[in-house]
Amino acid sequence: MTVTLREPPALPPALRRPIGTTAALAAVVVVVLAVRYSGDVAASSLDNWARGAVDRLLPQPGPAALLVDVVGAPLVTLALVGLLAAVCLALGRRRLAVVAVASVVLTGAATTLLKPVIGRTIHGGYLSYPSGHTAAATLLALVVALLAVDLLRVGGLPGVLVIVAAAGAAGATMAWSQVALGAHYPTDTIGGFGTAMAVVPATALAIDRLAGRRRGPRRSPPVGDPYHGDVVGAVEAGRPVPSHRCRGCDSVDVVQVVDLGSQPGADYFPPVSTPGDDPRWPLELWLCRRCTLVQLGPVEPQLPEPPLAIESATSLAHAETSVRDLVRDHPDLAGATVVEFDSHHGGSWLPHLLAAGCRPVADGERAHLVVDVHGLAHEPAIGRSLAQRVERLAPGGLLVLEFHHLLPLLVENQFDTVRHGHWSYLSLGALSRLAAPLGLAVAAVRPVSLFGGSLRVMLRHTGANGLEADGSVTAVLDDEAAAGVADPERLAGLHAAAQRSAGTLHDYLVAQRVDGRTVLGYGAPSKAPVLLDVSRVGPDLLPFTVDAAPGKHGRRIPGAAVPIRPVDDLRAARPDVVLVLTWDIVDEVISVLEADGGWGAEYLVPMPEPHLVTPSVGAVQSP
Ligand SMILES: [Zn+2]
Repeated sequence: MTVTLREPPALPPALRRPIGTTAALAAVVVVVLAVRYSGDVAASSLDNWARGAVDRLLPQPGPAALLVDVVGAPLVTLALVGLLAAVCLALGRRRLAVVAVASVVLTGAATTLLKPVIGRTIHGGYLSYPSGHTAAATLLALVVALLAVDLLRVGGLPGVLVIVAAAGAAGATMAWSQVALGAHYPTDTIGGFGTAMAVVPATALAIDRLAGRRRGPRRSPPVGDPYHGDVVGAVEAGRPVPSHRCRGCDSVDVVQVVDLGSQPGADYFPPVSTPGDDPRWPLELWLCRRCTLVQLGPVEPQLPEPPLAIESATSLAHAETSVRDLVRDHPDLAGATVVEFDSHHGGSWLPHLLAAGCRPVADGERAHLVVDVHGLAHEPAIGRSLAQRVERLAPGGLLVLEFHHLLPLLVENQFDTVRHGHWSYLSLGALSRLAAPLGLAVAAVRPVSLFGGSLRVMLRHTGANGLEADGSVTAVLDDEAAAGVADPERLAGLHAAAQRSAGTLHDYLVAQRVDGRTVLGYGAPSKAPVLLDVSRVGPDLLPFTVDAAPGKHGRRIPGAAVPIRPVDDLRAARPDVVLVLTWDIVDEVISVLEADGGWGAEYLVPMPEPHLVTPSVGAVQSP
């Protein structure tokens, strides 16, 4: 599936309707002119006027017209199409290469067959409508333009304009040479131009449709999985996936930096009773070169994420201490109005804020304190979602955002944090760049340990009192720059690091099985599917994992198909090694399992590199 998904469409989906309409209009023009000039043996008044205009504009065509004429000679056109197809193949545009070759055959056939049918002649017997030379030049320009808009990711109206302008310029140049050399009536060249304008887009649409069908039967999602969305619809129906724009600033200057392969949905745990062939989508990190936001690519699986998880003790305690710190640092918040945006995890701060004296505001009203704790990453269009938060902020108010930080993700190789449903991986630099156009700037920042390394960022309106950013801001920005969080090559290094770490984990589990030692898991977090899949770990190496959330019992990790059971099952099984899948709360896990003295298990922590923790001696060692 991954391979076919990446095969770029011959005609980008956004351009299908406008270019398809243009092609239909071109076909109508070809037919109308054909009917009008059928059987004619002389120039029409329109042709005479056009010829006169060409002669007045460029009275001495000379060798330039002959040179242009050569491009339209059948053998030269074929050679150029062959070259163009080779370039398309080299750039991975297989479909466009097929379009180039098929279009030249179809356009050649159309002009050759139409000529005797229409029967229009010039110079006493030469069949002239439509002009094959003009069709050839237009065709070549169309294929080059389609390649250019795909490579440069030019969508919408600019894309249409590029294609029509390229075809128009090439067609007009060839038309001029044909008319100047007296080879065709001007209206013949319009017919030739129209033929290519109709045939090339129609061929591209047909190739895209055929390529989509060739993908084989669509895989049905498990019953009761109402996933939807235009992009998933496109994937399932075999239609090409739209090109990608930055989720933060809408720029098209985005590049893929990490490819974690085809991965299942992260936070939907199928019942153990359903067969294990879970739907998968490409999981890729992209970097926006304008705002430096690191984000998921264009494919958007939208699996339901029912709230099965329960907040860890670590997370609940974090909410309480975070609010205490916030109120201590900002005494003005006592009695202030507050809005909290809903979040999937991280624990709500609202009860603690209300207990500290803050007051809730009515729906839609602005508040002096706007809080989003680990919510933004779940918003596919983070730019728009950030604007919604800013809209709720009263003048002089404080916007507090907390999110998993890209810096530890990169430095500590937390590749399993990259998962479907977490659309963006924020750095302070990217957030600053996205906040600036909204009139906000970062006032202070606090690195916090939640989820393996998060960042709490305080933002205020630019120019507001007290906006003097404290030293924490430049310190984090400096750390980010040193780590290369906006450097495509540094980010790309995450792939190799993930493969190495995953290989170590896999080999260790195999060695344990060979030695007859049992390994069972703790936790079924949303990052487990990626970790286990990249590490090629299934029930053969990890017979089951356990989780404190009753809603996950009787279900399994998607993809890896490792069953999820109650925590007591782990205690009863007394494995030699516990693989801590919720590695970000490893201390909490160990204290829970060792509360009654434990059974002498070792704890295998997969991040930043797989390592063993032996609680009895407190030792840490590499497996
Ligand atoms: Zn951007």
